[in-house]
Amino acid sequence: MSRFEPLSPWLSIPTDLQPALAGAQRADVAIIGGGYTGLCAALRLKAQGVDVAILESEFCGAGASGRNAGHLTPTIGKDVPTALKLFGTDKAVALVRFAEEGVAFVEQLMKTHAIECDYEPTGNITAGVHPSHRAPLVKAADAAQALGIKTPFLDEDHMGQRGLPRAFRFGVMESCGGILDPGKYVMGLRRAALSAGVRIYERTRVGEIEEGAKVRLKTQAGALSADSLLIATNAYTVPELGRLWSKIIPVRVSLFMTKPLTGAQLAQLGWLKREGIYTAHEILENYRFTNDNRILGGSKTIAYKYGSGLADGDQPAAFKLLGDAFYDRFPMLKNVEIDVFWGGWVAVTLDYLPVAGTLGRRGNIHYSVGCNGHGIAQFSMMGAAAGDAVLGKPWEELEVLQRRFTPFPPEPFRWVVGKALQVYLESVDRKIDNELRRNAA
Ligand SMILES: Cc1cc2nc3c(=O)[nH]c(=O)nc-3n(C[C@H](O)[C@H](O)[C@H](O)COP(=O)(O)OP(=O)(O)OC[C@H]3O[C@@H](n4cnc5c(N)ncnc54)[C@H](O)[C@@H]3O)c2cc1C
Repeated sequence: MSRFEPLSPWLSIPTDLQPALAGAQRADVAIIGGGYTGLCAALRLKAQGVDVAILESEFCGAGASGRNAGHLTPTIGKDVPTALKLFGTDKAVALVRFAEEGVAFVEQLMKTHAIECDYEPTGNITAGVHPSHRAPLVKAADAAQALGIKTPFLDEDHMGQRGLPRAFRFGVMESCGGILDPGKYVMGLRRAALSAGVRIYERTRVGEIEEGAKVRLKTQAGALSADSLLIATNAYTVPELGRLWSKIIPVRVSLFMTKPLTGAQLAQLGWLKREGIYTAHEILENYRFTNDNRILGGSKTIAYKYGSGLADGDQPAAFKLLGDAFYDRFPMLKNVEIDVFWGGWVAVTLDYLPVAGTLGRRGNIHYSVGCNGHGIAQFSMMGAAAGDAVLGKPWEELEVLQRRFTPFPPEPFRWVVGKALQVYLESVDRKIDNELRRNAA
């Protein structure tokens, strides 16, 4: 019998939970949010001798950073052809290089802080499951090739040689990156930040930001004033904080893990190189192994809640879709039970790129948000870059993200945009999946 996990199977509440903020405190720099962004910014700042404090509603990692699927990828934007169309050749190349640097940044961070997070540098494959997926994947591989980016197209023979399950017919290989345990990664960053002397206040929700020469953050039991602030709350940016309202919308994504596979089931499955897999659906499915040989899968459907609200809860309809898709792609595993479902929120922008910059009359409030579902690599690196920017250094590393930005409209149009997008994308995928099911019957 599958269970629902309100937090994430990667994590439990840390035994060294840090005390909540109480009374009047101060710091040189305050950071709201203790995920990859906040922790990497804090590490960069602390390395330069800055007194930095993280204020986190729950505990570090309780947001998307401890809930995600753990594909470490250089994916940025929607895909290379879309980036070319929207931004032109030079910027598209720069964006891909930026994303690849993010992967290398995380690999280095793991070494520097001795973070053991079951990282397997397997690469990730975007796989086609239906003939209609071929043309866009060939186009993506060709466009990348023309720009000197090595993401080769794998035809049926190549996929077969890799022993990939037959449902994944052809694909595009991203060889940089792989799969990791996101809970161990974020807890490793938390440990590194604490050892470096970063002050972390957990179970400390910021309810109000008061602008001024000193920024003042009000919490349930106290207040903290700081020379500068970094907002690192991504999809968990609550409407009360208001300021990033037009830049992002939070979208719910669900995941699952099966029970561990037996030796016989693994032998039947193949998939010897253990690459992460994304499908080429409009709303992708993702699959990967865990280090104890479960299969983790997810995405497939998204949800936006009116008013950009967040509700963590059981999502039976989404979980059913995920289960059905899993048994469609892996019919040889029909006796393998799904052990656990969970989910989290990603922040989406209208052009699929992250947004980072400075707000406020005094120029001392900074932000880095809008992961679009790909944040392990980029948001670790962007967090560190944001740490530099807070100190007044130019946002050089993030220059590539500067562009004319399209804001989301206010409600109720916002909900209409979110819903229309979801209905359209899901209907394209449903048509394909139904046809595959009819053919398999
Ligand atoms: C289901 C799912 C699957 C994903 N899969 C992948 C993947 O395979 N690969 C990949 O690269 N990316 C993936 N992502 C995206 C990735 O997890 C995020 O991009 C990344 O974790 C963002 O990190 P962050 O630090 O910016 O935000 P978060 O980790 O979300 O941290 C924000 C923090 O802010 C805190 N907060 C919010 N408001 C307040 C407040 N008022 N006061 C104090 N604290 C506050 C929250 O509690 C939270 O801990 C996935 C995300 C989800 C949800």
